[in-house]
Amino acid sequence: MPVHELAGRTAVVTGGANGIGRATAIRLARCGARVFVGDRVFRSENDSLFRELQIAQSECDVCQLPQLQRLIDGAADLTGRLDILVSNAGITLVGQADEITEQQWDACLDTNLKAAFFAASYAVPHLRRAGGGAIVYTASNAGLLPRAHDPVYSISKLALVGLTRSLGLSHSVDRIRVNCVCPGPVSGTGIMTDDLAQAADPEAAARRVIAASPIARALGRMVTPEEVADAILYLVSDAAMLVTGTAIAIDGGKSLGVPPVAS
Ligand code: NAD
Repeated sequence: MPVHELAGRTAVVTGGANGIGRATAIRLARCGARVFVGDRVFRSENDSLFRELQIAQSECDVCQLPQLQRLIDGAADLTGRLDILVSNAGITLVGQADEITEQQWDACLDTNLKAAFFAASYAVPHLRRAGGGAIVYTASNAGLLPRAHDPVYSISKLALVGLTRSLGLSHSVDRIRVNCVCPGPVSGTGIMTDDLAQAADPEAAARRVIAASPIARALGRMVTPEEVADAILYLVSDAAMLVTGTAIAIDGGKSLGVPPVAS
C-alpha cells in the first residue's frame, strides 16, 4: 500500500475553503480520505471540484465552539470514524503592543489558539475510538522565530507550537500524533493577498517578503499552498507513524536566523 494512502479515513480541515486549507483538503481527498471542510466563508467556486472529490463543505466559525464541535462530531457521525484533524483556520494581526485592542487580541488568540485547542478536545474522543489518529496544526515561521511587526500573531503561533508538543506528549498513549507545519511566506493565500494589497506598492512588497526568506529569495518565489499541503499529507499519513510533537518549517529558511546579505 502506498504510504500516503488514506482510503477509508475521515479527515476534518478547518479554514479549508481557501489557501493552505483548501490545498490540503484536495490533497487528502485525492489520497482517498473522506474530507469535511469547515470555514466561516462558504466559497461557491469550490463547489464543482469539492463535489467531484466528495469533499463536504460547511459554514463553521471556529471561534463559535458549538459550531466547531458540530463540524467534528458531524464528520465522525456520518462516516462512523475520525482519523485526521487539520486545524488550519487562522487570521493575522499586525500592530505593536501599544496599538492592539483587547478585541483584536481576543480575535487573534481565539482563532489561532483557543479554537485549535478545542478542535483537539472535540476530536480526541473520536480519534481514540478509531485506535489513534493524527492532528496537524498550521502554525507559522512566526511560531519558531517571532517577528517585530506582528507580536500578537507571533505569540499565537509560538503557543500553537507549544500546544503541539504538549498534546503530542499527552496523547501518545492514545496513539494520537500531534504535529504542526510552520510555513511562510505562502503565495496565493487570502492572508498574503490581503497583506500585499495593503502596501503602497504590492509588487515591491512581494519582493521584500521573498527577500526575507533565503531559499524563497534564491528561487525568486514564495512557498505554494500545495507545498504546505504535501507536508501535512506526510504528517497525517502512515509514513509519519512515529512522528509526533514536531514543527516542520516550510519557510525557505526564514526562521533559521538573520539571512545572508542581499547581493
Ligand atoms: P487564507 O486566508 O487563504 O485561508 C485561511 C482560511 O481560514 C480562510 O478560508 C478563512 O475564511 C478561514 N478562517 C479564518 N478565520 C476563521 C474562523 N474563525 N472560522 C473558520 N474559518 C476561518 O490564508 P492561509 O495562508 O491559507 O491561512 C491558513 C493558515 O496558514 C493560517 O493559520 C495562517 O496563520 C497560516 N499561515 C499562513 C502563511 C501565509 O504566508 N499565507 C504563513 C504562515 C502561516
